[in-house]
Amino acid sequence: MNIPNPRPHQAGPPATGQAPLGQRNQTEPGQIRAVLFDFGGVLVSSPFETFHRYEADHGLPEGFIRKLNTMDPDANAWARLERAEISFEQFCDQFESDAERAGGKVDARVLFSSLLGEPRPQMLKAAARCHERLKTGLLTNNFLAPGANMGLELAADLFDVVIESSRVGVRKPDPKFYEIACKELEIHPSEAVFLDDLGVNLKPARAMGMATIKVIDPDQALAELEELVGFPLG
Ligand SMILES: [Mg+2]
Repeated sequence: MNIPNPRPHQAGPPATGQAPLGQRNQTEPGQIRAVLFDFGGVLVSSPFETFHRYEADHGLPEGFIRKLNTMDPDANAWARLERAEISFEQFCDQFESDAERAGGKVDARVLFSSLLGEPRPQMLKAAARCHERLKTGLLTNNFLAPGANMGLELAADLFDVVIESSRVGVRKPDPKFYEIACKELEIHPSEAVFLDDLGVNLKPARAMGMATIKVIDPDQALAELEELVGFPLG
């Protein structure tokens, strides 16, 4: 799971698919030893698609749920759930009252029971190709709730390490999260490429020296990844 965590007070270029000139990946051929994948919005479809459907079905303004999740980004109910600081039950109560304060009614249990994304076969295949030759990691902000992590099973054979925010108590974009991944994979950040659908999650990775790919169009992202690793992913 991945929730936008915008820091409007931070200066910097807007998060777009294309890094500004001078900030493009500077990786040398053969430098990449590990490929790190986000889950929601990368290996499977984005949870935001589910949010949009729920909003449309329940007469809520478009973007209502995403906006709830961006308010007070380090301390809101979602952030606390993904660090396993509160239970799913506590989360649902807080999330529903936050929604009410913002002028909408959300059934948190219904919403989150439908959050499993659709697998993206080409991404899963690419992860398998990477796993044959390189180290691979899955880096996900997730939460502990009945059925919430069933999707991770499809990834179990593809990754050397799986870092889950709900287990390590730290979530993206906290740099500690990426440090844990590098330590477990026994790599230096400059030996890794990281794919995520949110620019805010890529920013610290890039600052640590990782190559980064923002996943908007999965096929385009895979073309970029192929160039970086130097072998076919299809
Ligand atoms: Mg994501």
